[in-house]
Amino acid sequence: MTMRIDCPCCGGDIDARHTESMSHTMRRMYFVCDDCGYRTPAGFEILFSLSASAKPRADVVLEVRPSPMLRGGVNARTTVALARTV
Ligand SMILES: [Zn+2]
Repeated sequence: MTMRIDCPCCGGDIDARHTESMSHTMRRMYFVCDDCGYRTPAGFEILFSLSASAKPRADVVLEVRPSPMLRGGVNARTTVALARTV
């Protein structure tokens, strides 16, 4: 699956041609516009968690901010996330 965004120069669709891992939560993506030839890097960052991971990494700390939409349903992940925030 390719990430596609609007070209900031001509408004056409530009696809990520290459991605590079910067950390466990950040990637740099390189976009190329076929319409105008524009090329640019862009960042993709995981900002926080909507639910806690069942298999968290010790070196990755992401604040859990449960979504109100997830509070209604009960499953293994939302139960763990809510239990940790109480
Ligand atoms: Zn363009």
